Amino acid sequence: LFSLSFIIGFLIGTLYINNLSHKQSLLTRLENAILNQELHFVYQPIYKVKDRNITGVEALLRWTDSQIGYIGPDIFIPLAEKNGLINKISQYVVEHAIRQCAPMLLNNDITLSINVSCADICSAEFREKLLSTLKKENVAGESIILEITERQSFGTDDIKQTMDFFKGTGIMFALDDFGTGYSNLNWLSLLDVDEIKIDKSITDSIGTESINKHILPGLIGMFKNIPKIVVFEGVETEMQYQFLKENVPECCVQGWYFAKAVPLSELRAVLPG
Ligand code: C2E
Ligand code: CA
Ligand code: CA
Ligand code: CA
Repeated sequence: LFSLSFIIGFLIGTLYINNLSHKQSLLTRLENAILNQELHFVYQPIYKVKDRNITGVEALLRWTDSQIGYIGPDIFIPLAEKNGLINKISQYVVEHAIRQCAPMLLNNDITLSINVSCADICSAEFREKLLSTLKKENVAGESIILEITERQSFGTDDIKQTMDFFKGTGIMFALDDFGTGYSNLNWLSLLDVDEIKIDKSITDSIGTESINKHILPGLIGMFKNIPKIVVFEGVETEMQYQFLKENVPECCVQGWYFAKAVPLSELRAVLPG
């Protein structure tokens, strides 16, 4: 019995260490990818449901490591958040995405949505980077929407202060992943955001028997009374599109039914001008 528990203990220990060193190497590789500017962007269009006119694009980060291959943001963003690297990523994102999109933003009446963690927008370094990049690239604050989510618990007081700081710059805020545990009514009532992005899990429930379908009528009723931009994410089917067009005619839509996220060069095909 003793030797058995010894062997099990040994195995668990080895697995643990392997896992740890794997994570550390992924983290080191991510750090290097930021330093070497190897992270790049794809952009997904957002449309008015009414006329399918494009209103903006969302920048989504992509990372292909030379040895490991493609690593999704669902993997490396949480990793960066846990290890204090997210601040660097957010600065990288505002600098590079705004620079890359600057000509498009100047020539088209559309917005650029950028994903940022709450902890970052409250840092002075981030604000400085954002404002200096806008100035340098000659991009108006009105062209930028910061999409915030709350995965780590975070004081809303700090975010409120940050939003006040940005008032007057024209920069807008969107509450991302609305309807999930991380982003809910409590947040909406506390923060004066310009836009609400309804999570794909709610969009998925349209026309199904899923538990989330009960949330939908309430949300639709609520949106009629609040003057905010509402974007439904992850629209994949004609049925979902038609439902939203009929029931939430003022909303915007984003999803594979309309367009996947593509490199900037391919985006020109969907732009009006
Ligand atoms: P998100 O902000 O909710 O982004 C939407 C995700 O849904 C994207 O996944 C997008 O490709 C995917 N998507 C859009 N339409 C559809 C659809 O119709 N069907 C399906 N199945 N998926 C759809 P992606 O690019 O893998 O990003 C995942 C998450 O990683 C993002 O979720 C966001 O939270 C985070 N992320 C991505 N880029 C950044 C970034 O630059 N900074 C930060 N902090 N987070 C980022
Ligand atoms: Ca987002
Ligand atoms: Ca989202
Ligand atoms: Ca999401």
